[in-house]
Amino acid sequence: MKKFTFEKIIKMKYLLSLLLWVTGVHAQHSKLKINHLSGNIYIYTTYKLFSGSLFPSNSLYMVTDDGVVLIDTPWDEAQFEPLLDSIKKRHSKNVVLCIVTHYHDDRTAGLEFFRKRGIATYSSKPTYDLCAEYKEKQAAHYFTKDTTFTVGGYKIDTFYPGEGHTKDNITVWFAKDKVLYGGCLVKSVENNSLGYIGDANLEAWDDTIETLLEKYPRIAYVIPGHFGWSKGRKSLKHTIKLLRKHEED
Ligand SMILES: [Zn+2]
Repeated sequence: MKKFTFEKIIKMKYLLSLLLWVTGVHAQHSKLKINHLSGNIYIYTTYKLFSGSLFPSNSLYMVTDDGVVLIDTPWDEAQFEPLLDSIKKRHSKNVVLCIVTHYHDDRTAGLEFFRKRGIATYSSKPTYDLCAEYKEKQAAHYFTKDTTFTVGGYKIDTFYPGEGHTKDNITVWFAKDKVLYGGCLVKSVENNSLGYIGDANLEAWDDTIETLLEKYPRIAYVIPGHFGWSKGRKSLKHTIKLLRKHEED
């Protein structure tokens, strides 16, 4: 009797892991969403299983005459190749540059893959160092201060506004389209909590967002690291609201 129960448990465990594997494989191989945002800017989203459900992660690419620029890499490693293929197919262009906005793997997972494909990979020096410290994939190059990259006539401004989600999080500004890529420093208006705050600086975070509000009085879109993006500065103000709510709880 005991043996029977044991076997039954083993069988259930096997079926359960098979089910998880099948859904996992399905998730790994089917999820790359590309949305046109504005002008030559596109948002791409990949997914990973996180406490039982698919969790979206946003990144961005910009198409220029001199090639495509990626901001952050797919989180899902099964999408590195499909992303490059989709871009090639859709725009007949190769990716030439990838800039990552902090050291967590939802930003950096594809750095080594892209470097091997001849793409110039960049992060700030603090991100470069934190990637080494936490054994995340590392960019080939780093910049030591806020840097403007000019590709195909487009200006792409990196900016370090201060600590928040992590101590190294930077934002990227696309002046022509007035798009602010906030990454995980900015919460989506769809979020009602701050998400993962294990590496966050909760004291500094709201000042950091205020710095962005001051620096960019007119914004067309802000792109958060996860979930939906929105027009104007709503998600910046929403992030401050969530920080205050967290403080009160
Ligand atoms: Zn994130």
